[in-house]
Amino acid sequence: MKYNFKSGKELLEMCNEYNMSIHEVCLEREVELSGLSKEEIRSKMQHSLNIMKSATEKAVEEDIKSVGGLIGGEAKKLTIFRNNSKSVCGPLMNKALVAAMGTMEVNASMGLIVAAPTAGSCGILPGAVVTIGKEYDMTDEQMLDALFAASAIGAIITRNATVAGAEGGCQAETGAAAAMAAAGVVEMMGGTPEQAIHAASHCLQNVMGLVCDPIAGLVEAPCQGRNAIGVANALISAELCLAGILNIIPFDETVEAMYKVGKNLPPELRETALGGVAATCTGCALSDKIFG
Ligand code: SF4
Repeated sequence: MKYNFKSGKELLEMCNEYNMSIHEVCLEREVELSGLSKEEIRSKMQHSLNIMKSATEKAVEEDIKSVGGLIGGEAKKLTIFRNNSKSVCGPLMNKALVAAMGTMEVNASMGLIVAAPTAGSCGILPGAVVTIGKEYDMTDEQMLDALFAASAIGAIITRNATVAGAEGGCQAETGAAAAMAAAGVVEMMGGTPEQAIHAASHCLQNVMGLVCDPIAGLVEAPCQGRNAIGVANALISAELCLAGILNIIPFDETVEAMYKVGKNLPPELRETALGGVAATCTGCALSDKIFG
């Protein structure tokens, strides 16, 4: 198959050889793999984008209760804060945090989200892509392109490492989501494939070693906060690369390093809720309160 890239290096070579963006190469790859037309594939992606958009808004519009009761109301609080106070991070970042944390509220209440790449990291990609899309009055088509660029990065990380917290820690889950989102945002903003891939490297390196330690084993806390940091990671990394600040370690080597670090994490720090903040006195007390 002509477009079946297996690494960041191969993806970049294809982009350069065919003078295509990452999202264009990714769409061609999907056509080859699925046998569907570009229109059919974009229609499926539009369905995902619609779910993402809805999930970013739901927690601001409705009162949502999470299953464990550890999170809820954060998207509303951030929105009220933005409207009534001086924002530390600025309005754009605040909106990205609202979208990311709100999507996690929807997830924790068993609502409909797009697990891209996982449910635990589901706020980061829409938090970045939908927020940037709205901020700059972009079309759905532009947001779809960003999601295809993000998909390419996710496919490479999944193939060569992991996006599962249980296997590689939170670095693999929210780190991968941020890497995907950063690449998508770079392409949305007119950056090059090289800048997009470097932004993905920045993201993974920024959270290298981050452990997976969900309190009470629920994907609520610290997961929601990690999605807030994840969307900030994505936007900051995109900004760096668009400004020409590239990463000195190639993306494929970064993915390999992340995977090795993940494998070296003890089981207590890989989604078992036996380490990290899950194993603190308060974390254990919360778990006892929820499960008795
Ligand atoms: S702490 Fe674990 S469960 Fe929570 S978001 Fe990170 S990887 Fe997922």
